[in-house]
Amino acid sequence: TVDRLSDLEKLSVLGHGSSGTVYKVRHLRNSSLFALKVLRFGPNAADARRQAAREADILTRVDSPLVVRCHGVLEGGGDDHLCLVMEYMAGGSLHDVLRARRRLPEGLIAGVARRVLEGLRYLHGMGVVHRDIKPSNLLIGSHGEVKIADFGASRVVAAAAATGPESGGGDDACAGTCAYMSPERFDSEGFGDGGVFAGDVWALGVVLLECFVGRFPLVEAGERPDWATLMCVVCFGGPPAVPDAASPEFRSFLGRCLEKDWRKRGTVGELLSHPFVAKCRSTEGLVDDTFHI
Ligand code: ADP
Ligand code: MG
Repeated sequence: TVDRLSDLEKLSVLGHGSSGTVYKVRHLRNSSLFALKVLRFGPNAADARRQAAREADILTRVDSPLVVRCHGVLEGGGDDHLCLVMEYMAGGSLHDVLRARRRLPEGLIAGVARRVLEGLRYLHGMGVVHRDIKPSNLLIGSHGEVKIADFGASRVVAAAAATGPESGGGDDACAGTCAYMSPERFDSEGFGDGGVFAGDVWALGVVLLECFVGRFPLVEAGERPDWATLMCVVCFGGPPAVPDAASPEFRSFLGRCLEKDWRKRGTVGELLSHPFVAKCRSTEGLVDDTFHI
């Protein structure tokens, strides 16, 4: 573990998000690389502080090759920020990969599906619901390994909640983006009946469809996916359209992820044994010679 901020040297900025900045850093003594996520609390600090503590708490509990590792939680100087020392992921995020390549072949998409489903099986098994699965929160290691990152919107729920209604407060997940939000999460006020873990499966379906289509798939090309548009499309529209070029297995898999009624949606366990996932390729192809970030 890294226990002093002064041991780290900032090299560059890896990303900006809703909650702060992520830097590439080097440990001064042994030269190993890390990603340092600096969570800043604004003037209205209470909520941000609580969420940062929740993110740090979840990260220190999880221990899996399918989830980006945390090597330390540090408070820097004043009490206006918290720093998370993370495993450095040399391949960037799936968002970066899609920007560079636009689309991925089905074999690779199946590989991504398998890794994320295995990661979700692990997280859900310990009561962690991610709530913000999207391309920029799926990171790629130097050998193409895909890992789930960014627990900034996550919750720990009792295992019993897996089959019951989502409880506790309004849905603040729109702080980031609602682009990947499932119908029942838009609807949390109406019926208060959302399957907690099923939302992560829906989001994965949207991400995989995006990998195939080459752009965010739920709105027209070039359209800005604002909250109202998305709510209409996701809650009142038909099932998301899948291009004809998709194989029958992929089509069937997406149909199970993007089932609008969360009670009927595929579970992580069911999807892991779906024929589409069975034909997956190694995700090593996400970082090949023709592609460097
Ligand atoms: P936010 O909560 O602000 O969205 P993230 O944890 O998602 O923060 O990080 C924002 C971006 O920074 C990611 O989309 C990715 O591009 C980059 N990033 C985050 N963590 C790492 C890491 N461990 N290795 C490499 N890049 C990272
Ligand atoms: Mg993020």
